Amino acid sequence: MSRVQRITVLGATGSIGLSTLDVIARHPERYEVFAVSGYSRIDELLALCIKHLPAFAVVPSDASAQVLRQGLKAAGLRTEVLVGEAGLAQVAADPQVDAVMAAIVGAAGLSPTLAAVRAGKKVLLANKEALVMSGALFMQAVRESGAVLLPIDSEHNAIFQCLPGDFSRGLAQVGVRRILLTASGGPFRETPLNELNEVTPEQACAHPNWSMGRKISVDSASMMNKGLELIEACWLFDAKPAQVEVVVHPQSVIHSLVDYVDGSVLAQLGNPDMRTPIANALAWPERIDSGVAPLDLFAIARLDFQAPDEQRFPCLRLARQAADAGNSAPAMLNAANEVAVEAFLQRRIRFPEIASMIDHVLNREPVVAVEALEAVFAADQRARVLAGQWLDSHGR
Ligand code: NAD
Ligand code: MG
Repeated sequence: MSRVQRITVLGATGSIGLSTLDVIARHPERYEVFAVSGYSRIDELLALCIKHLPAFAVVPSDASAQVLRQGLKAAGLRTEVLVGEAGLAQVAADPQVDAVMAAIVGAAGLSPTLAAVRAGKKVLLANKEALVMSGALFMQAVRESGAVLLPIDSEHNAIFQCLPGDFSRGLAQVGVRRILLTASGGPFRETPLNELNEVTPEQACAHPNWSMGRKISVDSASMMNKGLELIEACWLFDAKPAQVEVVVHPQSVIHSLVDYVDGSVLAQLGNPDMRTPIANALAWPERIDSGVAPLDLFAIARLDFQAPDEQRFPCLRLARQAADAGNSAPAMLNAANEVAVEAFLQRRIRFPEIASMIDHVLNREPVVAVEALEAVFAADQRARVLAGQWLDSHGR
């Protein structure tokens, strides 16, 4: 590699952001942090600036910018502070940037991620919601700009590793029969169904295998995460929803598999630590140390597999419905889910009502074509209004 690669980390204060900075810091001869962004934890963002010395830091408001600037000044740092969506777009598309880690959670990540794509960057995509919302337009932007899109989601990174380099010719052309998307089943895989009404946000966020942000933790508990990942896989690998099968695998050691027509099934295994897919994508097509401990198969001893239970996990069925309908449906699904998860975290609805709210939103509106980004944002807004109305009449 010729020179040090400059990396923008969007969502640097989050779980994926911190893991990314950890991998980067292990390889100062290869990478430096060009920019970081944070949303609420400005003191933590300051600490990251002191440690990683980025040229830019992006915060959501003038008030938070003032706080950060004071802290930077006291620390004697020259990091420049930018504000809001314009600031995020600037550090995502800056000509000096080689790669952008898209690790903002939810729909808020769509615009900055697209800015990186349109600038033709190497885009490390953790923000699955962006792709779910705007799949066709997003992938079109990737093709037009020549951006290199590398999946960070552990399952999609695993699939990417199990596919041949020329998979974009088409899955059938490279002999793929199915994609097997593994799921841990989350913390409620075996909870008696009649107890799901009483589960708390704390229980939902206590994932058995992975340590993650609160939104994706609740998504994992409802298996909406797997639903979003099904849609994500369809766009990343140009697969039909029916070609993607969800396999519950409680140990989270196999991160996903690809089933070929000759009967070969290739899998990627590893400890459940996001630094593996992050290091894989950062260095791709090379390999670097991620800091993850070697896999100890003797300690794991066995691997289990089950079919997903759609009665327990209705969100999976709703996501499949949206995947089949396409157009505006995935954006509506995603937005309704964001409202529902937030309401559950605030204890305004019960866990099973996450699916009820999404079902209401999805089955109330006709699916419309989304030929421009404005239509995606309109669908997102419409779903939030409908979800809000449902919450007003059903929530606490
Ligand atoms: P997190 O909640 O830990 O971090 C989210 C980051 O986004 C934070 O830096 C936060 O400041 C920022 N943010 C939140 N709201 C924002 C807004 N409105 N505008 C700008 N920035 C905002 O989340 P996470 O677990 O790191 O997940 C990040 C993304 O990666 C999600 O899309 C998630 O689905 C995906 N992902 C996460 C994991 C994981 O293990 N954590 C695995 C696979 C995929
Ligand atoms: Mg995943």
